[in-house]
Amino acid sequence: MNFHIMTLFPELIDGVAKTSILGRAIQKDLISVNAVDIRTYTDNKHGRVDDYTYGGGAGMLMQAQPIYDCHQAIVEAIRDKEGAVAPFNAVSDSYNEGRRIRTVYMTPQAPVFTQEKARELADEEDIIFLCGHYEGVDERVLEEIVTDYISIGDYVLTGGELPALVCVDAIARLVPGVLGNGESYETESFDDGLLEYPQYSRPEIWRGREVPPVLLSGHHANVEKWRHEQSLIRTKERRPDLYEAYMKAHEDDERAKKRRKNNT
Ligand code: SAM
Repeated sequence: MNFHIMTLFPELIDGVAKTSILGRAIQKDLISVNAVDIRTYTDNKHGRVDDYTYGGGAGMLMQAQPIYDCHQAIVEAIRDKEGAVAPFNAVSDSYNEGRRIRTVYMTPQAPVFTQEKARELADEEDIIFLCGHYEGVDERVLEEIVTDYISIGDYVLTGGELPALVCVDAIARLVPGVLGNGESYETESFDDGLLEYPQYSRPEIWRGREVPPVLLSGHHANVEKWRHEQSLIRTKERRPDLYEAYMKAHEDDERAKKRRKNNT
């Protein structure tokens, strides 16, 4: 899977992508993270990529032309790799025709990123991210190239690089082989709509705190039952919104479990 990140600060992306699990996944050719410097595509002889906003107001706006040309170059490179016969942009109107490469604009003005969205995007072979800066991006280029708008939370950051990396990280770890153990993400928070249960490692007693005895019992079914109960308790306490949605969807299962418990 290939991540193409349009940015004014490629060094921000490279620093993170080279590290830890993402770095190993790149070395193993499971993913690639390609930071593309928007500035290299500007027509402006002074290398400018931003300008004042029409209508006034403080701050600068990223201009349409360098972003459009940068996006086009990435799309053409993807299509070349796929063996497309004709250049993608032989006629300008054809730019948006055919298979659209998922192009995500990171923005606070969007639905918040979720595990479900990460799963959806993990099915793509190539994803392009656009990182804004300053006051944001000229709306017209967004209308031309963007397929998805994603926020990482209800707050405003200085740029889209950290948000794009958040998405890359969450999506990349769903690519088979990246975590090294397919099980790891299948029992994690959000996988079944609940938060994960508490976990413990050695030693059995630390600062007087003991590992719950059931986890040392070797009784697999009891461990699973305990973990599910803990997931429910934790989700109810920390994310009542998720808990309610889960209970609504699993009302019958949970009622049956309670009945079984009361009968034993
Ligand atoms: N003027 C914009 C507004 O009020 O919506 C905010 C621009 S922000 C200072 C600059 C860039 O940071 C945005 O274009 C976007 O790419 C990125 N950004 C900031 N907060 C973000 C968030 N919560 N999620 C995703 N991207 C964000």
